[in-house]
Amino acid sequence: MTDIALGSTEEVNSSLFDPHRIICNENDDLYPSYRRLTFISMDACDFCDKVETPGPYLFYISIETKNGWVTCSNDSCRKKGEAALDHYMKTRAYGKANIFKGKCIKVRRTSGEFEDNWKLSNSFVEPLIDDNGVERVCVVNSSEEIEKWIDIKKILEWNKSKI
Ligand SMILES: [Zn+2]
Repeated sequence: MTDIALGSTEEVNSSLFDPHRIICNENDDLYPSYRRLTFISMDACDFCDKVETPGPYLFYISIETKNGWVTCSNDSCRKKGEAALDHYMKTRAYGKANIFKGKCIKVRRTSGEFEDNWKLSNSFVEPLIDDNGVERVCVVNSSEEIEKWIDIKKILEWNKSKI
């Protein structure tokens, strides 16, 4: 179920979700950029040049967008895949709203009322930029029946007492 944003500029219907508009992680010397894990060959690996022990092992940031890393079955590559995912979740997921990971957050409903029992979505962890250039993240209510894509700046503003 999706809350319809009636003339609101703060919310977008999640059906507008387009994985191509997802912000890729900025160049990060530690790990290669993640990519869409579709049509992966048996000997694909994002962490070595010459695959000797085929996988593939997939490390998804998000099952919904199918973005992540692939490794061969070499132990050190698999550890790097895990580390890349861990690093992403700790530092990049949800953009600037990352600090609210695992916490209850305050969200303003279309009605104008605030609810304090929302959280960042576990399904969509990548922020996206809408047609107006606004960076948004996906949040869900306590029962996870409603999801909304909210301007990260609003989330920071509504929850500044929790920072
Ligand atoms: Zn490898």
